[in-house]
Amino acid sequence: MALDQLYQEILLDHYKQPRNKGVLVDPNVRLELKNPFCGDEILLTLRVDDGVVTDVAFSGHGCVISQASASVMTEKIKGMTVQQVKQMAEQFSDLVKTGHAETVLREGGDDLDAFSGVCEFPTRVKCAMLAWRTLLQGLEHHEHQHHYLDDEKSRATD
Ligand code: ZN
Repeated sequence: MALDQLYQEILLDHYKQPRNKGVLVDPNVRLELKNPFCGDEILLTLRVDDGVVTDVAFSGHGCVISQASASVMTEKIKGMTVQQVKQMAEQFSDLVKTGHAETVLREGGDDLDAFSGVCEFPTRVKCAMLAWRTLLQGLEHHEHQHHYLDDEKSRATD
């Protein structure tokens, strides 16, 4: 089987049988983003405890690349620290823009590699990045909230 074909199979598999599809009951991160260029939508719910992603689910609809990307992402990030997630997001962005991946992504496995062909279609980079952008923005909101709460706490004890 040609590599392109294998990659297509992986993407279609995730599209048809998405992993972690749904909405968490008790998330502390929740964000929805859209990609108007393609009509893709992703709603991401996360549970982050002590800086580690302990649970994640996504729902949404759109093209194969956007939905498969979200499915693969949820599989990869469960159990990762927020720092590791950010690093992987950066490398995934490099991968879909250039077709080349850094070391950490390689260790992450083949399902992420399946997106290396996206770089040949610049308009689809937004599709592949939608879930990751949602994730990063959601984590950012979460961190701000926490800093705010920490500030409140330190003020209360002053
Ligand atoms: Zn799309």
